[in-house]
Order: sequence, then C-alpha cells, then structure tokens
Amino acid sequence: MNIFKSLNEIIFPERCIGCGILGVALCMQCRKSWSHSRYLTQIAHSNTPVLTVISSVPYSDISQKILLAAKESHIKSADQFVSQAITNSIQSALNFAPCDYLVPIPSRKSAARKRGRQFIEEMTAAASELFSIPILNPLTHVRQVRDQSGLDSKARWNNLEGSLVADTKLVFSGKALLVDDLVTTGATLHEAARALRYAGIEVSGAVTAAVALTSKIPQVLRRDVSNRWTK
Ligand SMILES: [Zn+2]
Repeated sequence: MNIFKSLNEIIFPERCIGCGILGVALCMQCRKSWSHSRYLTQIAHSNTPVLTVISSVPYSDISQKILLAAKESHIKSADQFVSQAITNSIQSALNFAPCDYLVPIPSRKSAARKRGRQFIEEMTAAASELFSIPILNPLTHVRQVRDQSGLDSKARWNNLEGSLVADTKLVFSGKALLVDDLVTTGATLHEAARALRYAGIEVSGAVTAAVALTSKIPQVLRRDVSNRWTK
C-alpha cells in the first residue's frame, strides 16, 4: 500500500455504500442485498416480439444506493459491483441467447456530459473483454422525453415511444444483446429493442444489473419473475 493511498484512506475512509459503516465498500449485511442470482423478465407489448431480460440482483434500497453511487458519484467500488452484475447477467444470457455484439442503452448527451462518460457502456466494457463480444452503439436519443421518475408505468411507456433510433451503418450483421443498469417497467428496453428491430437489427434479448421485482407494471407488460432460475 503506498503512502498516498494510506493518506487518502485516513482523510476519506472507505464506507459501506449501503449503510455507511466504516472500513468496507459493502458490508456483509448489505452484500446480502447485492448477491448474484438470475432473474428472468419477459416484456411483451402490443404485437411486438417478447423481449427476455436477464438480471442479477433484485432492486432494493441498497441496490439503489449502489447504482446511484456508480452512476452519479463515480464511486469506484460501486462501478465494480455494477460491472460485475452486468457481466454475470451477460454470462447467463449467453447460455440461451447467443449474440454477436452488445448494445448499451445510451445516456442522453447532457447526462453523459455531466457524468463525463457513457455509464452503461463503461459498465459493459469488462464483459465485452471477458467474452470477446464487441460493444456497438447504434442507438441515439432523437427527442426530448419527460423525466421518467415522476411518471406511472403506462405514462413511462407512452413517454418513451419513438424516442430512440438505431443507425444501421454502425452495426454489422448478427444479433444484438441490449444492456442497461436496471429494468423497472421495461419501457426503456422495449423502446431500444423496437428501434433496433425497426432498423432491421435482430435482438437476442437484454440484460441488466438489477431488476425491480415489485414495480407496478402496465397490463401490456408480461413479466415472469417467479421463474427464478436455480443455479
Ligand atoms: Zn452496509
């Protein structure tokens, strides 16, 4: 351990992201809320093909803090937790849905500028390297949408409809696997899959780090979280 790292730890001691206890990035208790499993969510909307989403951890107060610590605060250990969960989900997804490239959900330009990075793309980099599957970025936001946080499930779906487009010049032939940090109503992933399919790109499925198991969902969304896979 070098002197600068030691000094840094004295001035800014490491705290559990979940509960704030000193000395660890994530304490044993909070780690229980971020232990990897495999969750299957199926999103069906109107007449579009079902989109299968694989996730690794359930959304909770603790996982919300970890996602925010990574996304908004650049906490390195939180980045690693999110990246590992995404890697785990991709590994699970590859068992049933082979893909040729990974497509991260892009942040809006203003958010990416504020954060200094495309968050999901960075969180996908480790898996891309591990499984030798390239990351491609054909998706672009084409219009303003309202802040999703204040909207109910149905309004979220309407809000996002037609908000993404896919540029086919930025992909090669093969199947895309979508990547995001969290699936709640499924509206974002559905919109991304719609945009890719509209551009003629085949979508094998989607993965997220976390899944909200208790979120209110519109009737058009069919989800099957009861199908928790056994290891
Ligand atoms: Zn803790």
